[in-house]
Amino acid sequence: MISVYSHLNMNDVDDKDLILHSLKTKKEVLKPLTQIQICPECKEENAPIAVYCVKCDSLLPQTRPEEIAKILKENQTLQARVEHLEGRFETILKMKYAIACERQ
Ligand SMILES: [Zn+2]
Repeated sequence: MISVYSHLNMNDVDDKDLILHSLKTKKEVLKPLTQIQICPECKEENAPIAVYCVKCDSLLPQTRPEEIAKILKENQTLQARVEHLEGRFETILKMKYAIACERQ
């Protein structure tokens, strides 16, 4: 019996099966959660979108401009959604205030 919550999908089961039958290695199956960039100069771990190393300021070779552009575009989209929701929230607060004033 599993005493801790565990979420498995068919890909997890397939991967375990492939490892069990030596068709894949654990290293091939286990994917990193984020694509950390390792600095070639000092071996420091850097954020996926870092252009320069945080430790030695070297230019990181794995920096992909298209990925940075994609992340920036997603951030702009999220910012626009937050601003839209803030505007709607303010409208709701004004309506609530107006209703409260009418009742008095
Ligand atoms: Zn470095």
